[in-house]
Amino acid sequence: MSTARVWFVTAPRSREAVGLMLETSGFLRGLKPRKRIGLKVHFGEAGNDNHIDPEFVRAAAVAASYYNLQPVQVETTALYRGRRQNAADHRRLAIEHGFGVNRTLAPIEILDGEQGERCYEVPLPSRLVPVARLARGLRRLMYLINLAHFKGHFVVGFGGTVKNLAMGFAAKAGKLEMHSDSKPFVDPERCVSCGECVDYCPHDAIGFYRYIARIGLSCTGCGGCLAVCPQAAIQVKWNSASSTVQLKMAEYARAVLIGRQAFHFNFAVRITPNCDCYPQTENPFTADIGVFGSSDPVACDQAAYDRVRPGLAELYPHLDPGVLLEASEKAGIGTRHYRLEEL
Ligand code: SF4
Ligand code: SF4
Repeated sequence: MSTARVWFVTAPRSREAVGLMLETSGFLRGLKPRKRIGLKVHFGEAGNDNHIDPEFVRAAAVAASYYNLQPVQVETTALYRGRRQNAADHRRLAIEHGFGVNRTLAPIEILDGEQGERCYEVPLPSRLVPVARLARGLRRLMYLINLAHFKGHFVVGFGGTVKNLAMGFAAKAGKLEMHSDSKPFVDPERCVSCGECVDYCPHDAIGFYRYIARIGLSCTGCGGCLAVCPQAAIQVKWNSASSTVQLKMAEYARAVLIGRQAFHFNFAVRITPNCDCYPQTENPFTADIGVFGSSDPVACDQAAYDRVRPGLAELYPHLDPGVLLEASEKAGIGTRHYRLEEL
């Protein structure tokens, strides 16, 4: 049984953690210079200030530049309505939240196109997810530093490094596939027949029936129309069971890591009940813990999860986040067995 090393720095010293762990692990030393390296960040939804500190990103950019790598902050568009649903608004919001290049020293790139429609397919040996649909821009990145905020999540139980890979690098079609067992539909009460979605759909899947937009069989589930409808009339059923979402996430994380080298951080500070997609700054449900770092995302999540397990069990007694950890291990992206080393 393999055991992964997980480094840990306590919360009061969290600003030292990124540089310290990247240096101690030797991760950057093993990479080819002059290549781009993606710093995977969640910039936080508008109204939510619990996103990670931009100084953590700056520390990663400084470390990468020291080894002559080219750091770029990378993210994808969100599936639901908000300021992160298309690339232009998402970039503006990231800058408002302090992630501009002046502060972080890394430019921002939204990897799945203006509406989240640009994807590429990765075949997997999985019956549940035979094909993962990832953001097309990821194809140009062989190196990643995964900077995840560790917090609760109302569907999965918690969100950490594996979720940041899976949901964070999926194009809209992939996010839709993980969250829902069905394609989008039009709410006739909200549709005002403006035709924006008809003009937009890259697959000509939307037409009008009795003056109301209707999505037809040629819909591929790319999710782009969710972003263009000005009335929020195009919706999805968030109907996948928690365990199914977790199993699919493990497969998506596996797809992201095929052929890539990555180092993963869990910032277990400001640990809120919901994720940073939530449009409000929530109060944490437990005290700050610190920063976990590892080249193994499963071990990194397991180590952080072990520290908040009782609080999460109280918040979400009906959810079992262990499904994700076990499935990720089975998918071959890491191990749940770790050795914690405090720096
Ligand atoms: S964009 Fe929205 S409101 Fe306009 S036609 Fe399509 S569904 Fe209806
Ligand atoms: S109708 Fe389907 S294929 Fe067309 S934009 Fe919407 S999700 Fe994509």
